[in-house]
Amino acid sequence: MGIIRTNKELYKFSLTNSTLCDFCNTRQDSIYHRFWECECIQQLWNNLKTFLQERHINIELNFKNVSLGIHGLLRHKLSINYLIICTKYYIFKCFCCNHERRFLHLKTYVIEIIRIEKYIAIKTTFKKMDHFIRHLINAQWGWISFPSLFFLLKFPGTPKKQTP
Ligand SMILES: [Zn+2]
Repeated sequence: MGIIRTNKELYKFSLTNSTLCDFCNTRQDSIYHRFWECECIQQLWNNLKTFLQERHINIELNFKNVSLGIHGLLRHKLSINYLIICTKYYIFKCFCCNHERRFLHLKTYVIEIIRIEKYIAIKTTFKKMDHFIRHLINAQWGWISFPSLFFLLKFPGTPKKQTP
């Protein structure tokens, strides 16, 4: 979040007309205000908290947790930090594109991200499996030419040594 330029900084270079927050237009823009303090954004975080509470996930949302992620989550709740990152990115996108911030849009956005991540994970897994199988074939059968492989498959037994 530290690399994001606020209106206060942009105003110094005449890149914006005001130092006020673009969301509420009442308070001075800052990272703290934009991602946490702003009443428009607080509504989004409150909706997210309620959404999680309805699913029996009780987490404390404060600026520290939103900035750095929640430390010490159990393994099955680690995705909460990912959800927080997605929410922050959604807020950033709304700021850049001047979109209205709605929890329904956030949900749709997160569902789309999860769908894409799932697709990438499946693609990557298949690619790794394919690479692994090719590696196995090359390691075990690479030295065998196709005619000899055919012969080996047709007559798999090794010839017995003739004992005198
Ligand atoms: Zn504001």
